[in-house]
Amino acid sequence: MAVSVGALIGVMERIAPRRLALDSDRERVGLAVGSPESLIERVMVALDPTPEAVAEAVDKGAGLLITHHPLLFRPLPAVRTDTPVGRVVASAFAHNLALFSAHTNLDVVEGGVSSLLAERLGLKEVEVLEETERERLLKLVVFVPESHVEAVRQALGDAGAGHLGNYSHCTFGVSGTGTFLPQQGAEPYVGERGVLARVAEVRLETILPESLLEAVLQAMRRVHPYEEVAYDVYPLCNQGKAAGLGRIGRLPEPRPLGEFIAAVKSALGVDEVAYAGELDRPVVRVAVCGGSAGDLVPKAVCRGADVLVAGEVKYHDGLLARQEGLAVVAAGHDATERLVVPALARRLRQEADRLRWEVEVLEAGPGEVLWRTG
Ligand SMILES: [Zn+2]
Repeated sequence: MAVSVGALIGVMERIAPRRLALDSDRERVGLAVGSPESLIERVMVALDPTPEAVAEAVDKGAGLLITHHPLLFRPLPAVRTDTPVGRVVASAFAHNLALFSAHTNLDVVEGGVSSLLAERLGLKEVEVLEETERERLLKLVVFVPESHVEAVRQALGDAGAGHLGNYSHCTFGVSGTGTFLPQQGAEPYVGERGVLARVAEVRLETILPESLLEAVLQAMRRVHPYEEVAYDVYPLCNQGKAAGLGRIGRLPEPRPLGEFIAAVKSALGVDEVAYAGELDRPVVRVAVCGGSAGDLVPKAVCRGADVLVAGEVKYHDGLLARQEGLAVVAAGHDATERLVVPALARRLRQEADRLRWEVEVLEAGPGEVLWRTG
């Protein structure tokens, strides 16, 4: 059965919530062309909404193209087919292809662009380089009759509650007695109107990020047998997961910059990088950021990085890095970001499998290289 564009947007919202996009970017991300109600059988993931990617998506029967870079970077005053962006919009409409993007929201999340880059370079003890948001955590306590404890526990965990590090479905339960007096109009699952009921119940508690609250409550209500579910939600002071720009970590052991650069080239499949720094100086603490990252030079310096690996860094940011003793490796905007295409496609396939959706997830071809060296 086909799924709606809106349903896939819902999945993307869990992977890279729109609210995590940087302020300057929030209006650009999301659905740019098409309707959430369109039904699709295929979705394609690409780095850029280029005419080639759109043509490939149309060719392969995709109804949705998800890209990292937004199509409408600037407000579009007119949709004219004598402009490149206008032609892409017209072509997408003509072929009933929806266009959606997750940009800085996909940069900052765990499993997003910079976190994948850190992983690809084999960094250890990886942390966010510049925090932009920290998830608020909540405690959910729900009172469940003993017969339904397992079903509710499963539903809470499946909806994303009770995740602690590498553990899912974490809950705690304590048995007790619930009481209630069904009033006029009540249709109680146990007991009868006008008689005080005493029921063996379990106080089931778990932790969850605030962003999942609605989904978790819905999942809980779906399997809880009571007409009126008794539950409490408490705000917590525990620190949730950080999201932010870039990542910083360390190499398993120090190595000279020259050797590290060779490893970066091989990890990213590029023949050349631009770099600043002394090749024989050892590096161990590595900051990374996909795409343009010159703004992160001061942060990398103050977090004690020896080298910043980025897509591209402007001349003056490079000068500043040199003055601060920070080496810089610019490996190419696309080379540092394209890791996200297969990774995002994999996540979408997992979600589609989990939800038993019959939707095929395709990855766009690599496209033509923009910058050549010569
Ligand atoms: Zn980019």
